[in-house]
Amino acid sequence: METPEDGDEAPEEEWFDGDDFYNQGASIDWDSPPCPAPLGIAHVIKIGVCDYCLHRISGRKTQSQGFEGGAELRSEAHARDSELSRQQIPEICPLCENLFDDVGNIAERITESLNGIEFKTMQLGIHLPKDLLQSEDTIRTKHGSQGSRPLKTSFATAIQNEMLLNSPGISFVKDYPDIMVTVDTLTLRVDTDVRPVFIYGRYEKLVRGIPQTRWPCRSCRGRGDGCESCEGTGLQYSESVQDIIGEPVKQILGALDTSFHGMGREDIDVRCLGSGRPFVLEIKNPRLREFELSEIEKKINSNEPEKVRVNSLKWCTKKDVSRVKEARSEKSYTIRFKIDNPISEQEVVKSIEALSGVTLEQETPKRVSHRRAAKTRKRRVTSISNILVEEDEIQFSLRCEAGTYVKELVHSDEGRTTPSVSSVIERECVVLWLDVDEIHAD
Ligand SMILES: [Zn+2]
Ligand SMILES: [Zn+2]
Repeated sequence: METPEDGDEAPEEEWFDGDDFYNQGASIDWDSPPCPAPLGIAHVIKIGVCDYCLHRISGRKTQSQGFEGGAELRSEAHARDSELSRQQIPEICPLCENLFDDVGNIAERITESLNGIEFKTMQLGIHLPKDLLQSEDTIRTKHGSQGSRPLKTSFATAIQNEMLLNSPGISFVKDYPDIMVTVDTLTLRVDTDVRPVFIYGRYEKLVRGIPQTRWPCRSCRGRGDGCESCEGTGLQYSESVQDIIGEPVKQILGALDTSFHGMGREDIDVRCLGSGRPFVLEIKNPRLREFELSEIEKKINSNEPEKVRVNSLKWCTKKDVSRVKEARSEKSYTIRFKIDNPISEQEVVKSIEALSGVTLEQETPKRVSHRRAAKTRKRRVTSISNILVEEDEIQFSLRCEAGTYVKELVHSDEGRTTPSVSSVIERECVVLWLDVDEIHAD
C-alpha cells in the first residue's frame, strides 16, 4: 500500500504507535479470523469499536440497524464469552473516533441552515481526516467482514437516513444538486450552498441610455456605500437591463443576487427591438426554485414597460449560459447618420447599395481597444435595404454577420474599417442612432 505524503513509516507501525485504541493488558489476538466469525467479532469488540461500527463491519444480519444492531451483536458476544464483558475496552472507537455519535447533530444543523429554502435534491460532501480513513481501512480490511462498507460511505448514508426521517422528500444525488452540503468532521462545521437557478428568455430594450449589465461607478468602483458622483448607489448608470429584469425575479424567488448572460450586447445608446436578444438570467441563492413563468414574465414586463420587456421565458440550466454566450447569429440593424456636405440622393443610394454582399475588414475600433486585443476582423454585409435620404441625414437598414462593428461601417473609424459608407460616398459621417432590429437566433 502506498502512503505518499506520510513519510516512510508503514501504516501498521503508525497505529501501533498511537495510544487511541491500544488495549492495555488485554491479550489481543491480531491473527484472529475476520468477522463474521465469532472470534473476529470478539476481536473487534476488544479493540474498542463502537456499536455502530460493530454492526457495519460484522457482516451479520440483525433485527435493528446502526447502534441498536451493534448492541445486539455485543450482547450476543458477551453471552458467548463472559470474559469479554469483564475486559476494559477503550472508549474511543478506532474505526470512527465516535463520529457516528454526531450524526443526529449534523443532520439537525443541515436542516436548520436550510430553513425556509425549497429544494428537491441534495449532494453531501464529507471531509474526513486522511489518517483516520487509512487506519480505518487497514483495520476493516483485516478484521471486518468481506464487503463491509468504508467509513466515508457509511457515514454519508447515516446522515442521509437521519435527514430522510424528517424530510422524506429529499433525493440524494451525485451531481447537479439543488443544495450542496459539505461537512467537515474535524470541526463539525456544516456548509450549505444553494445552487442557482437559470431562466432563458429574450429581451427588448426600447430606449437608449441603459447598459445591458450593472456597471460599477467609475469613481468608487462600487465599493462600500458608493460615493458622491454615484449618489451612493455604487453604479455608473442607475438602471440596467440586468436589474430591470432581475430585480422582480429576485423578489419573487427570494434570491440574493443575479448574473446576466446575453447573446452579445448592444451599446448603451443602442436599442434592441424585434423579437429581442436571447439571454440567460442566473438567480443566485433562491429560496424558491419553481414558479409559474407567465407570472414572472408579467412581473418583469410591468417593472419598466416603456424601457425593457421580455418574452419566451423558459427554465434552463447552467449549460445554456455558454450556449447563449457562444452563439453567433446574423443581425439586422437600422442606422441613421449625418453628412457634412450634401450629395445627390441617387448617388447615395447607388454607393450604399454597392456595399451589399461586401466583406469588410475591421480593425479593432478605438472605442473598444482598451478592452480588446487589436486585430482585423473580416465580416460580411449580407444585405442592405430601405435607404432614406433626408437632406444631410441618411438612414438605411442592413443585415450582417455576427460581430460586425456597424457604427464603424458607417463612419469608418478613421479608416480602420474598409470599405465604409464614409469611403464610398466620400463624406464624413456622424452616426445619430442605431437600432438592432432583429437577432436571427433560432
Ligand atoms: Zn465507530
Ligand atoms: Zn461611486
